[in-house]
Amino acid sequence: MKLELITETPQETKNLGEKMGSLSEPNMVWTMSGDLGAGKTTLTQGIARGLGITRTVSSPTFTILKIYQGRLPLYHFDAYRLEGTHQELGFEEMIDGEGLTVIEWPEYMEDLEQTEPLRITLHRLGEDRRRIVLETENEKYAALMEALK
Ligand code: ADP
Ligand code: MG
Repeated sequence: MKLELITETPQETKNLGEKMGSLSEPNMVWTMSGDLGAGKTTLTQGIARGLGITRTVSSPTFTILKIYQGRLPLYHFDAYRLEGTHQELGFEEMIDGEGLTVIEWPEYMEDLEQTEPLRITLHRLGEDRRRIVLETENEKYAALMEALK
């Protein structure tokens, strides 16, 4: 399954995230790929809003994992710091299975192989224009993707 969306402003990306957050269910894993400045954290801020999280979500580059409490807990990973370390983070032990997991820089996380996540890729098309691609083979995300069309 694949869904491609275009946003024209940061606000539109947040609104998309908000909708995704409101549709999220326990134990979902969403990965976010894209260059620096593509909008991964902006999208995550919208997701947090959709979960009813009022705390400010910032990029967790120096902490690997930040946890926010909302309708579901949000586990926000940023694996950028793991580049080249090839270490198994044991991320499944770090989450309790009740929350939504969002992972920035999943390419540096070694233990995602057993998971078929919802893969989100953000492309910078211009100053404010972004292409956001959602892709997965996991049927568990079918309804979510349908609702975002
Ligand atoms: P990343 O986490 O991928 O490095 P950020 O979300 O931190 O990216 O930064 C994205 C930057 O691009 C922000 O400054 C944001 O205001 C800007 N921006 C401009 N247009 C958009 C858009 N359509 N969607 C998301 N961010 C956008
Ligand atoms: Mg970021």
